[in-house]
Amino acid sequence: MKIYLAEHRGFCYGVNRAIDIALNARNEKLPVHTLGPIIHNPQMVSRLKEQGIDVAEKLTDISTGKVIIRSHGVGPDVYKQAEDKNLDVVDATCPHVKKAQQAAYNLLQAGYQVVIIGEENHPEVKSIFAWSNSNAHVIETSEDAKALPDYPRLGVVAQTTFAADKFLTIVKILETKCDELKIERTICTATDLRQQAAIDLAKKVNVMIVVGGRNSANTARLANVCRDTGCTTYHIESAAELRPEWFSNVQAAGITAGASTPDWVIEEVYSKMEEMSLGNVVKLETGSVIKGTVVGIRHDEVFVDIG
Ligand code: SF4
Repeated sequence: MKIYLAEHRGFCYGVNRAIDIALNARNEKLPVHTLGPIIHNPQMVSRLKEQGIDVAEKLTDISTGKVIIRSHGVGPDVYKQAEDKNLDVVDATCPHVKKAQQAAYNLLQAGYQVVIIGEENHPEVKSIFAWSNSNAHVIETSEDAKALPDYPRLGVVAQTTFAADKFLTIVKILETKCDELKIERTICTATDLRQQAAIDLAKKVNVMIVVGGRNSANTARLANVCRDTGCTTYHIESAAELRPEWFSNVQAAGITAGASTPDWVIEEVYSKMEEMSLGNVVKLETGSVIKGTVVGIRHDEVFVDIG
């Protein structure tokens, strides 16, 4: 069996950054909490707990010490409450999420009716909503868009991990709902790159293994885009869930992982698949650079000088 790794997989820039910030915030004298799990990955959350970084679900659960704001961000009220409690705030909000929060705030100040395209219950969307002064429509589907009343001016912000094609479809409907539509492009390329790499790989292999927390929306979406190609797809959290029968008579299997899946979890999955395939394994990175020199990496994009 050939085992392919998707070209873009696993931790994104914002998650890597949030974990670095959390680890640097460790302190022997003060309690350190993240407000909610730092990422949607239970394995990573337990590792941080071993390092003395606990999870608090609400600010009221923290009486002293440091509070780490995770990459999804929070609303302005949370910063104010933390300040009132004399907590030391360590802000690990992803800069791309900050941009979406700021965009919602600016649109509101400029007199637009704010529309957030995303999942209403996702913590990032809740944080963007809070920055719109809780005065936005949150919509996720074309049907939601069609159901909106007409407005003179609509201002649109997207959840950073929203699918780009669905976003454009919804925007087309919103164009018919107002005289003026202002669109803030807040979709992060990390999601697109992972989804496109997963689709490309799913078209080549017989089975796709998508690794990531069950509570991770972007991992669930990766699994869905793989299934949409017709490829048999399994979403697992860890290597322990792999079943040998998934790989019987399989010539090629692919692995991808959500933006909140640590590398060591992906490696464990790879090793277990290697054992299950009983030898004859070729580990392949798709889309590797064959010619040229990598001259820079910015936010998950690799710039190659092919000279
Ligand atoms: Fe930031 Fe993009 Fe990662 Fe979200 S997916 S944390 S916006 S880099």
